[in-house]
Amino acid sequence: MTLLQVSDLHSRYGQVEALSGISFEVGDGEIVALLGSNGAGKTTTLRTITGLHRARSGRVEFDGRDITRLDAHKVVAAGLGHVPEGRRVFPALNVAENLLLGGYLRRRDRSAVAARREEVYEMFPRLGERRGQLAGLLSGGEQQMLAIGRALMLRPRLLALDEPTMGLAPQMAQQVLRVIREIRGQGATILIVEQNAHQTLRLADRAYVLETGRIVLSGPASELAQDDRVKAAYLGGD
Ligand code: ATP
Repeated sequence: MTLLQVSDLHSRYGQVEALSGISFEVGDGEIVALLGSNGAGKTTTLRTITGLHRARSGRVEFDGRDITRLDAHKVVAAGLGHVPEGRRVFPALNVAENLLLGGYLRRRDRSAVAARREEVYEMFPRLGERRGQLAGLLSGGEQQMLAIGRALMLRPRLLALDEPTMGLAPQMAQQVLRVIREIRGQGATILIVEQNAHQTLRLADRAYVLETGRIVLSGPASELAQDDRVKAAYLGGD
């Protein structure tokens, strides 16, 4: 079943066209990657889907429902979680408080939010150990775990992640990818945006390659990893 269907999406910043009609889909339970170099439009795609940036035209359907013009908080409420680029945790709040904010839309159900937070600690024991620590004092990898944990507080059906391994040491990056696999194992669907095609193509089921606001290639991740154009552009030729 198709969970997310993006059709002919156009997005612009003033006169600059960032997305020139992109279409793709994410099936329920899949891990789908959007690859592309700097400025290709990956972040704009996620921001447009999640209601942080208005689409110029086109359509975004989530679970059969048109969410193209919904405000961001309604998109989250509909079950589409977002881990933005650069992590964006609240540095002056501690880990527990950051997670609580992730559950804000369910704030009336305090015991459910508290129970969910315990589950997030089980998923990320390191966060549990550091629950009283200010988020700004965590390492980059820990902040990424926190940003993911925060998005998981509402149990999204689809989690969209913007370059979750950017700037992380290789070992930390591996850990983040392992966690993403685990989240899918628990039934969530994943849309991941990455510049690093190598590790992402090992993680994803399918991938799309974006170039200057258009999708230029798509297919099963294992096939794209063997594609000469992908190798030349994104895999350093190996
Ligand atoms: P990156 O890997 O650097 O995040 P990206 O693939 O995510 O790149 P976008 O950030 O989506 O690319 O940018 C797509 C295009 O839109 C680029 O040409 C970029 O310069 C332009 N752009 C992005 N944000 C803005 C903005 N706030 N104002 C004007 N132009 C923007």
